[in-house]
Amino acid sequence: MEGGVQNIKKAVEGIVCAVLLVLTFILEIQPSSAIARHLVVCLDGVSFSEFRDLQATGAFRFLRSPSQVISPFPSLTNPAMVEILRPLGSPLARGYEDTYYSWEKDRILGGFISRFREDFIRGTFRELFHFHPSAVESALEYVFPPWSCERAARLDFQRGLERFKSSKVATFLLYVGPTDCVAHTGGAPRLRKTLHFVDRELAKLKREQPETVISLFSDHGNEFGSYRRADPASALEGVGFQQAPDLKSKNTFVMPAYGLVGAVVVFVGEQDVEKTALALSHAEGVAFSSFTRGERVTLIEAGRISEISKRGERLGYVPADPDPLQLGITGFYLPQQWFEFTKNHYYADAINRLWQSSRTDVLNPASLIVSLKPGFYFGSRLLDIFASLKSTHGNLNQEQSAGFAATSRTDLPTHVSAGSLWKVLVPNAAEQR
Ligand SMILES: [Zn+2]
Repeated sequence: MEGGVQNIKKAVEGIVCAVLLVLTFILEIQPSSAIARHLVVCLDGVSFSEFRDLQATGAFRFLRSPSQVISPFPSLTNPAMVEILRPLGSPLARGYEDTYYSWEKDRILGGFISRFREDFIRGTFRELFHFHPSAVESALEYVFPPWSCERAARLDFQRGLERFKSSKVATFLLYVGPTDCVAHTGGAPRLRKTLHFVDRELAKLKREQPETVISLFSDHGNEFGSYRRADPASALEGVGFQQAPDLKSKNTFVMPAYGLVGAVVVFVGEQDVEKTALALSHAEGVAFSSFTRGERVTLIEAGRISEISKRGERLGYVPADPDPLQLGITGFYLPQQWFEFTKNHYYADAINRLWQSSRTDVLNPASLIVSLKPGFYFGSRLLDIFASLKSTHGNLNQEQSAGFAATSRTDLPTHVSAGSLWKVLVPNAAEQR
């Protein structure tokens, strides 16, 4: 009798063990079998139009149609990447570019040399990528453009891809920065060559791992053309201001110069904002200047003043006559309505982007932001020595502002703001990280 009970106990234990074993197996297997791995590649500075045209010729067949990713204003990497990666906890950028003015220290910090220091990556959006080249590697990419940029773009991409293959991270973020440098200094033909390389490598990955989801995106556009240097400092000197490295003296302004871009950020004392904005609006190559005061953004084009203000949740636009943005819309609307009304405009989503330009992405917002006309750029004179400029970004217009996103999984909306991109690309919370 006792032996019979023992046998039943053993049988029950055996069944329980077997059930537990199966359950454990199912639980362990389920995450990886139910959720395909996702490779997300950022190709810095590849414009929507460039990607769309390339795909129309047969490249990137494994991706669905691209979406226009509308960058913040100014359309530069730091604010754009902060917007895009905010859902992953991206910290604010110290400045709009690597060279920036610090209000607290009252001086210009960063610069190209900062690329050699680890804090170029540490504590910034760059840390959120599973593959990002080291600070020193990032600096060396720019030494002998466009050759060094092309080489670095391929190398970064290949190393990132190898890292992805050996990693187990569900959603893997790979950053390729030098594509922006290829566009700036090599022009469209060289950028296309680099993109064809990326296309071939990713097509191969898709053949080897058909279940892997592949997504590409960029942070801003790049407008190809011939460029000449704008001289906004002279416009301010003409009305009695002096350029300085700090704001200790009266009638001074700080104008950090770094990459060769289509926007200028200017720092002045609070009392000088209107006067300097007005002077800059008349300078050659300037489309308009803008500044933020409380619940109001003022935009000045050739001395004519337009205003954006807030009433409850709605943003209102009262343009000068003629409207410098030529939006054809005035009045108060919700941010989402402004986005829908103006997403196809030459100044895509202008009202939301101007409203946010000094509020959301950087620790040291500028007193004034200048949007240059196409064909004009501003930045470090040192960089002029290295290469002639074949494209740029930074201003408010569509070609400089619109990056792209495309994924192998699904069609994306035709337009998406940088701040909404992540939830569109990675909608399933279980896939995050
Ligand atoms: Zn750039």
